Amino acid sequence: MQPKEPEERREKVNKYQNNSRQGAQPQKRVQISQMKTNRGEAIRAGRRNFDTADKAVDRWDVFEKHHEHEASFAPITNNETLRIVPLGGLTGIGEKNMMVIEYGDDAIIVDCGFDLSVDLPGVNFAIPATTYLESIKHKIRGYVITHGHMDHTGALPYVVPTYPAPIYGSHFTIGMILKQFENVAENGIDFIPETVNMNMENHDRIVIGPFTIELLRITHSIPDASALIIDTPAGRLLNTGDFRLDPEPLDQQPSDIARIKKAGDDGVLLLLSESTNARFPGRTPTEHTLQKSFDDIFQQSNGRIFVAIFSTNMNRIQMIINAAAEAGRKVAFDGRSMMWVAELAVRLGNLKIPKGTVVAMREAPNVKDDQLVVVCTGGQGEPNAALQRMSVGEHKHIKLKEGDTVIVSSSPIPGNEVRYQQIGNDLAILGVTLFRHPSRDVDGCGPLHVSGHANRDEHKEMIEMVRPKWLMPIHGGALDRKYHRDVAIEAGMERDKVILAHSGSIIEFDKEGKMFEAGEAPAGAVLVDQTGAIVPGLVAKDRLLMSEEGMVVVMLTIDKKTGRLLTSPDIITRGFIYIRDNTELMDGLRAELKRAASQRFTRVDLDRFKQELKDHVGHYLYEHTRRSPVLIPVVNVVGASGQSSFKPKPVPDTGR
Ligand SMILES: [Zn+2]
Ligand SMILES: [Zn+2]
Repeated sequence: MQPKEPEERREKVNKYQNNSRQGAQPQKRVQISQMKTNRGEAIRAGRRNFDTADKAVDRWDVFEKHHEHEASFAPITNNETLRIVPLGGLTGIGEKNMMVIEYGDDAIIVDCGFDLSVDLPGVNFAIPATTYLESIKHKIRGYVITHGHMDHTGALPYVVPTYPAPIYGSHFTIGMILKQFENVAENGIDFIPETVNMNMENHDRIVIGPFTIELLRITHSIPDASALIIDTPAGRLLNTGDFRLDPEPLDQQPSDIARIKKAGDDGVLLLLSESTNARFPGRTPTEHTLQKSFDDIFQQSNGRIFVAIFSTNMNRIQMIINAAAEAGRKVAFDGRSMMWVAELAVRLGNLKIPKGTVVAMREAPNVKDDQLVVVCTGGQGEPNAALQRMSVGEHKHIKLKEGDTVIVSSSPIPGNEVRYQQIGNDLAILGVTLFRHPSRDVDGCGPLHVSGHANRDEHKEMIEMVRPKWLMPIHGGALDRKYHRDVAIEAGMERDKVILAHSGSIIEFDKEGKMFEAGEAPAGAVLVDQTGAIVPGLVAKDRLLMSEEGMVVVMLTIDKKTGRLLTSPDIITRGFIYIRDNTELMDGLRAELKRAASQRFTRVDLDRFKQELKDHVGHYLYEHTRRSPVLIPVVNVVGASGQSSFKPKPVPDTGR
């Protein structure tokens, strides 16, 4: 997070609340009828609310324009310098991964993901701020993507059209990316990127400017995941992508250990390695262990079976299809993303479906209960996902009932724990038989999930295979990256050879492989709504303030000359209090408004009057409710000619 200057912060607060200092002068002439709280107290309460909203938005490291001034970076001056700038992926649980690799006049961008976990009103996801990219726009030669998960690809449709360059990746990864661009076309982002499929089996090496890129097969939880070898004039980089070292993955395509070892033997300057599970001891179990669990449940269930999983985990879907075929059941896929990812996987040969196994979702109700399996999304309790809609009776084709079996093949992702629990409650009320990975021992089944990420022993193995000169833990918050460093030290690395960077760090290497920290690049999160438009941090704060305390609009129609109200003040509230239960309070407020208008309107200018009105109403409402809603005063001034202050001001004379 970028530290903020206290002064600047205060000024922002003031500007935002429109409580500028001159506006907050004591107004002796406005009578404040026997209020017990003083005005300062009311203003401070409002400011506290603002600070709370401020913190809630800052928690997501929202990039504001003023961050640009805090950045202290200069372009590369020495043409023999390798520069590495992570622009995302180093907070939280390692979301919105993006990293710039720059040498002389060329740069590539490794991964370009978004963060779906942002919990702010009207915000769909966050992408990394691209201000740094703007400064190296002319250098960007390509995007190299490790795998098709959205925390590595989700920002591409919002970044590539502005900074166009080819996208490089494995077949499945490129397939996922092209589909994403197709999906956002509905929002008017009409852009078909140039893409380059890279074959991992042939060890294709592609030259992009001074960089030579090679993709290596690595096991994760999506087909065709890759690690990257990036050869640069300053030395070799190895980026693991997201990985685990499962010796027996279901697709029988284990990580390319031989190539990783060979790369290590040839010498690696810097290992960039993911840190997601660096706090877990031992190894992630092999995925094979799950097949028996599915088979067992399928054999013992007499009713319909629903399996909730992540839509991109094809090995898992393959297991379910295998278990279904074995049990003589048909499989229906539910959810739009589920369908298109499965179609892509079948087309590319990553998913094998025996003929006649799959039925369309609309046909599912016609299949006998003991012959149906539905594969769906929503195991995390995501709102509007298929399982959630089925559990509340909002699904087009299916309503869950007693006798159904639901298998949730995942553990809750950090941040989803409450929803995970809630969907469990909803399913329990319906009387379905539920099997979930975290409660497998009491549910009476074997393991139903393995993580796609390496545990500590696998991290150690990776470091020992690569034996890099430097290690930069990536894809994780500060704590997980620190745990990763501990593993590296255990593996024999020196502590000061492990780089704990943050989003915006500028790390440079000279041609001798010496490392330098070279300032700060502007970095942070840019919030995006469901139409693909940017939501400025201040707008998100406004929404939070309104959602916490509600909103009050007071509308006055005032005679320009006398300052008298021409009609009774209109008061509109939303999310504040129920007006009909509070008529006394509202009558009192109207009386205050009348008095304020008659005493102050003719004495100060309109802006000042509005500010005083706001302070006064804020104080009155705080006195009676202890709340500080968002206040919007609307003053309609009617002069002798009937002119209203709402009318646009005349265009100033341009000097004729
Ligand atoms: Zn991943
Ligand atoms: Zn990831």
